[in-house]
Amino acid sequence: MAHRTNAVPDDHSGTRRFGPKHRACDRDETVAERTPVEYRGVAPGLPHRGMLLGARYILLDSIGRGASGWVWRAHDERSGRVVAVKILAPRHGRFDEVDATRMLREAAALTRVRHPNVIELRTQGMSACGTPYIVMEYLDGENLRDLLARGRVPLDEALSWGGQMLGAIAAAHHVGVLHRDIKPANVLVTREGRVKVLDFGLARLHGLGHGAESESGGWTGRLTDRGALLGTPATMSPEQLLGEDADTRSDMYSVGCVLYHLFAGRGPVSGKATRVVYEHVYVEPIPLRELAPAGTPQSLCDLVHACLSKDPAHRPTSRAAALEAAHWNAQSGNSLSRATGTLRRLLGTSERRGPDRPKSARWLESLRRLVRH
Ligand code: ATP
Repeated sequence: MAHRTNAVPDDHSGTRRFGPKHRACDRDETVAERTPVEYRGVAPGLPHRGMLLGARYILLDSIGRGASGWVWRAHDERSGRVVAVKILAPRHGRFDEVDATRMLREAAALTRVRHPNVIELRTQGMSACGTPYIVMEYLDGENLRDLLARGRVPLDEALSWGGQMLGAIAAAHHVGVLHRDIKPANVLVTREGRVKVLDFGLARLHGLGHGAESESGGWTGRLTDRGALLGTPATMSPEQLLGEDADTRSDMYSVGCVLYHLFAGRGPVSGKATRVVYEHVYVEPIPLRELAPAGTPQSLCDLVHACLSKDPAHRPTSRAAALEAAHWNAQSGNSLSRATGTLRRLLGTSERRGPDRPKSARWLESLRRLVRH
């Protein structure tokens, strides 16, 4: 049910703020108390330095801006610690129901996935003005997109970071969470070298009515909201780009794209949107062996190519891949290349394929959706 809005003076900033009619704008509530549809038509209170949330978090400065939210560094008055607050951003001056749902979904996913390599959720809430937010641990670091833009990463770091990322994804899959937007920008590395996977806003949670059993026995999530493709084309699996449901194997394809980038210094596909889609669907990437630094384990190159298989059935599970990565990291130098044989059982061969008619038609449809997005 949508509320009409009324302006009330904002006692923190001296500016005007807006809230649902008949509701005092003077306390915080948990997001779960109300459904996202109630945010429609409510002009939000924009975050600003000094803004108090949940009677304990004081916003300090803006540290990131995504499609649906602002990320602010904040001081937790109760614990004395610095935290990160992601607060819903308005689109055209009002909350978007889909964005609000994504924030709820992110909180639900992070509540479920507790892992040292996954960003930690502290709490969720709603500002006095009705703006939903989530509070997370603050990470002092840099995301892989920015790190990789500065050049190639040394092999030891790449092995460690790749392994940590795989551990995070395996943990998410284990508790029925599909990330669906794994990309370098969503993998942050702290100053201590710890990897944290972020941004579960597009996640699907098994058992919450978001997914369904797939033919492979895994669970899947519907791909689209608002009839548009969700995700990031540079790291999206061929099946997602073709408009099919995503499952854990689609996450593994995206993981393969990030790993490839980590070791090759460039992604497995390149070019403009249409070219990127075409390459994901039809073109085998340059063998990682040719681009990776000397000393990169052959088993790792094989694993990355298995993740990048066009056919989801040929991709390894996240658990098997994480186990393999733990093996690389447990050893050092050239001894890393002594594969245990686990990998060989995981690998499938992917053939170079040309376009067949039905696939071409679906490819065109994907491009249309991409343009709409
Ligand atoms: P997207 O458009 O990718 O969906 P989003 O709105 O969901 O973005 P995030 O990707 O979660 O937002 O965060 C945006 C940026 O803010 C990140 O790339 C990162 O640089 C920064 N950031 C997010 N969370 C934290 C955190 N806990 N600590 C420090 N920085 C963070």
